[in-house]
Amino acid sequence: MLHTLRDLARQAGCWVYPPFCFVCERDYDGTGADHSICPDCSREITTELHETCPRCTSTVGPHTDVSEGCSRCHERTFHFSSAFRLGEYAGKLHDVILKMKRATGESLAESLGFVWAEAQRERFLRDKPQLIVPIPLHWHRRISRGYNQSAAVAASVASSLGLPCMFRGLQRMRPTPHQTHQTATARWENIRGAFRVPQPNAVRGLRVVLIDDVLTTGATCHEASRELIAAGAAQVTVAVLAHR
Ligand SMILES: [Zn+2]
Ligand SMILES: [Zn+2]
Repeated sequence: MLHTLRDLARQAGCWVYPPFCFVCERDYDGTGADHSICPDCSREITTELHETCPRCTSTVGPHTDVSEGCSRCHERTFHFSSAFRLGEYAGKLHDVILKMKRATGESLAESLGFVWAEAQRERFLRDKPQLIVPIPLHWHRRISRGYNQSAAVAASVASSLGLPCMFRGLQRMRPTPHQTHQTATARWENIRGAFRVPQPNAVRGLRVVLIDDVLTTGATCHEASRELIAAGAAQVTVAVLAHR
């Protein structure tokens, strides 16, 4: 309840309360803070401790040659040209992602988007993107959760980078089973044909950053990228909060 009142107060532009961190759930010093994640949590969430594969965002050992991908992805062909992550699916980032998936997580998701864009601005802008598109939830799941966490994160990232965000850049045609409980082969098969681009004209010729929360095999982002490229997008770069 307290959380909700603070949230309402903040949305109303009322700064009666000191800034409150949605992650550690404590007040913090931060006059004029424009989001609700404290500096300590921000630092912890954005500190990447590992080298990662530039194709699939897997953690790789130091000094690994990843020019052709890593051992987990080098035999795969992806429709996205590269991928990056904020961090691994562990520690505080893991906790934040779980928290964000609750129906009350929207403000946290928005704040996380700002923190993410700030931390990886250069990487986001490296391929000179023109459009941000989130991975959509099927409407059925969106209604049961209350909102799409990837869309809320994407909106803040786009706003922070000064880029347009197209929430309906992709449409999910059917619900897909929770990927956590599937084998890798099943993930690739079940996701096939799950997306469509409702307005191809809106993506044609554009370099797109596709945003998702967690990447596991890359099947979802691959399938979404396939549709974007088929609709005429010039390039798709994948940005995920975490790799599991
Ligand atoms: Zn905090
Ligand atoms: Zn890889």
